[in-house]
Amino acid sequence: MSALGDLVRRDLRGLPPYVPGTSVGEVRRRFGIATPVKLSQNENPLGTSPRALAALHGVAALSDYVEDDHTALRERLAAPYGLDPRAVLLGHGSNELVALLCSTFVEPGQGVVIADPTFSLYAKYARVAGAALTRVPLRDGVHDLGAMLAAVDATTKLMFVCDPNNPTGTRVRRDALLAFGRALPTSVLLVVDQAYVEYADGGALDAVDVLRERPATVVLRTASKIFGLAAVRFGYGYADPEIVSATDRVRVPFNVSRPAAAAVLAALDDADFIGRSRANNAAGLARLDAAFAELGVEAYPSAANFVAVTVPVPADEAYQALLRRGIVVRSGDGLGMPGRLRVTVGTPEELDAFLAAFGELLALWRGTAASASASASAVS
Ligand code: PMP
Repeated sequence: MSALGDLVRRDLRGLPPYVPGTSVGEVRRRFGIATPVKLSQNENPLGTSPRALAALHGVAALSDYVEDDHTALRERLAAPYGLDPRAVLLGHGSNELVALLCSTFVEPGQGVVIADPTFSLYAKYARVAGAALTRVPLRDGVHDLGAMLAAVDATTKLMFVCDPNNPTGTRVRRDALLAFGRALPTSVLLVVDQAYVEYADGGALDAVDVLRERPATVVLRTASKIFGLAAVRFGYGYADPEIVSATDRVRVPFNVSRPAAAAVLAALDDADFIGRSRANNAAGLARLDAAFAELGVEAYPSAANFVAVTVPVPADEAYQALLRRGIVVRSGDGLGMPGRLRVTVGTPEELDAFLAAFGELLALWRGTAASASASASAVS
């Protein structure tokens, strides 16, 4: 090993990089496809809230530091819940908040409990904090809250529940999470990551209800999904002011930029864009559900803006075959979900392209499997 490599913390030397999925640029370069269809990062296919774009263009001053308390933004985010503005957590994407919660609250050797599979950054930042990680398998694609509770011991400090869950799209039942919150020892900080909650339709659990009952709870949200602002980097959350204040003392100063704050303030009031985004997603999910049923493949019921669908060949192979046709999805192999692909709900035109390619490939894969088994039985 090189001497420079020896400088890296011993326990982090094998840390894998975060894999965001194949970029559109790479598909263009590798396959010469001018306009790949990107359904791999759970972005908003309608783009960005026009109000947010206008607000971004209106940001004139960039030479002075932003006022780091972001009072207007905290007040705006707290208002719908009647919460204290000091109960609002702000971050450079909710990714930063995941990292910040681990570094503020988890001591080396303490336990972090997560589902398996779930969003990969929980495990990464638990490891960076030196935590002992426990992964609790999903049951039928859904968080097994009973088993997660049973995994708690005296060393457990933090628990992540991803609702709706990435990469399965499934969500936990409202009454189940409320009961779970009541049963979980108060020495465990419960983090409910609701990056996709705006897509979940009627009856969705709003984890702020858990926070109201249980102060050792953090609810995470993001502007990257329904608001279409992934590139400006803004995540937020709700927690007891004491928890927020602890993270405020650890975080990097000025972690939320003035353009991000301006864009988010505008996007929150863009009811038209949010409504259109939700409607496009609901229609896309219904269409994918119907198409998958017809094609004879199974998908978890999704409350998010993506679906986890089964394929009859190894997921990496299916992913590569779609990539060659200019359709970028995520292989479940890298997401702890072998045998499935994760497909983001796109525009109707993007779904046309995906379903055409997917239908063709399914026929091919099944044909190959059928002729392989026919020749195998002919031999035997
Ligand atoms: N949580 C979950 C469950 C996610 O899927 C994502 C995005 N991949 C994030 C958090 C991070 O979002 P952000 O862009 O706000 O960092």
